Amino acid sequence: MSRNRGVVYLGPGRVEVQDIEDPKFAAPDGRRIEHAVILKVVSTNICGSDQHMVRGRTTAEAGLVLGHEITGEVIEKGSDVEMLEVGDIVSVPFNVACGRCRCCKGQDTGVCLTVNPSRAGGAYGYVDMGGWIGGQARYVMVPYADFNLLKFPDRDRAMEKIRDLTMLSDILPTGFHGAVRAGAGVGSIVYVAGAGPVGLAAAASARILGAAVVMVGDFNKERLAHAARVGFEAVDLSKSDRLGDMIAEITGSNEVDCAIDAVGFEARGHSGGEQPAIVLNQMMEITRAAGSIGIPGLYVTEDPGAVDAAARHGSLSLRFGLGWAKAQSFHTGQTPVLKYNRQLMQAILHDRLPIADIVNARVISLEDAARGYESFDQGAAVKYVLDPHGDISKAA
Ligand code: ZN
Ligand code: ZN
Repeated sequence: MSRNRGVVYLGPGRVEVQDIEDPKFAAPDGRRIEHAVILKVVSTNICGSDQHMVRGRTTAEAGLVLGHEITGEVIEKGSDVEMLEVGDIVSVPFNVACGRCRCCKGQDTGVCLTVNPSRAGGAYGYVDMGGWIGGQARYVMVPYADFNLLKFPDRDRAMEKIRDLTMLSDILPTGFHGAVRAGAGVGSIVYVAGAGPVGLAAAASARILGAAVVMVGDFNKERLAHAARVGFEAVDLSKSDRLGDMIAEITGSNEVDCAIDAVGFEARGHSGGEQPAIVLNQMMEITRAAGSIGIPGLYVTEDPGAVDAAARHGSLSLRFGLGWAKAQSFHTGQTPVLKYNRQLMQAILHDRLPIADIVNARVISLEDAARGYESFDQGAAVKYVLDPHGDISKAA
């Protein structure tokens, strides 16, 4: 009998925690693999990118076990695993990466060429990402374990900081990548679109990189209030459709050095309707000439719920000429978590980056996952962390 349970996508708006198969030492195509470990999941987070699937805005099929933000304890290892031991507590980058292909060798693990037959890049529990089983569950298998996993140096210290360290699997490196790619550094003026968890992680990243001003824009009052509480300049987009003017009220200039899009394709305009290109167009408008735009927000190639026929295939109405005229740089794509997670782990362990408080982490049980999804979908100013075995509650 299976001892595993996990969050299963049942169709638009519906997820349920069900009995699922125990993880096996096998790739999605069924091949036996020895480079994997089985983890007992210590923490696993609900992500904004899961919401795109659960809202029916992707081609995800019913029956998918969700979850790509995983931290766990090694309980079994394959015969090819050399660097990890049973009992290690590890962070799992959401990117599944082989460590052997051209992209992995160049640290571009977000677009590994071998783990997904249909395109570059793999992930756990995600549509079109190679069929790797998700980790919003009690147990999960992680392939190429020596390459992928980040081992925490001390078990007790790790459990003390687990609410922070759980953010290393995705949102913290995702936000950090956005900030680095936007060119954030000492004295930068930074604008982040979106006050959800990734936006806040990007804002925290810009701050630790030395930014002079970090502004976060959103329509959601609760999220804006939280962003202000944790030290960022909140920009209430419902007050005006002239973003440059609102930025000028804070900094004295209507342009910024660095802009970060942490909204993605389900963007909304001032009118309330969906306008998938509006954030990208605003970023070009408010970023200074020769400035950079980091785009950690998700854009898709197929969107069954799009507002028009072009957007259904990911084609957006960009005012690209403006960005070209201003000689701006655009940086797209999923973060290569492995490039950043060790340095961010050290920042957390040495009390430099209180990311759990910044994103307002809230721990709930695995069995309560459906409630977490619903609340997050309604715009709650929290980051839900699932605690499948009660380990986080015990450590607290
Ligand atoms: Zn995520
Ligand atoms: Zn690879």
